Amino acid sequence: MPSCFVCGRTRNQNSKQDKITFHRFPTDVITREKWYEFLLSNSLPKDKVTQNSLICSEHFASHNFVYYNRKTILNKTAVPSICVARVKSAKLLFPETRTPIRISGFQVTASSSGLEDVVPLDDTNNTCLNMSS
Ligand SMILES: [Zn+2]
Repeated sequence: MPSCFVCGRTRNQNSKQDKITFHRFPTDVITREKWYEFLLSNSLPKDKVTQNSLICSEHFASHNFVYYNRKTILNKTAVPSICVARVKSAKLLFPETRTPIRISGFQVTASSSGLEDVVPLDDTNNTCLNMSS
């Protein structure tokens, strides 16, 4: 049973009656990023989003929808903006800001403390090259 990633609402008789529709995460990278921002602002973990994750129409302003062939279609560039407070979302309390993974490692240490730090990396590279050639 598909359910909304944000509020946990499931597609059932009730949601049908309320004309609630469920929408996949957009494939467009920029729009998708905005959806993630919405998740973060709701303390939801964006790394839990899968291909099958859905967000229900309750989180979108009505102007984001297009009605076509009796179907409700979400505008391609629509971004969720409405937070629906439900008990379930309180279970998913995650820190709001996640610090991006720091790309430190070899390059950074090498430039700050001289060539010696690069040696182990070079060694492994050389071994690989020697082996193959
Ligand atoms: Zn929802």
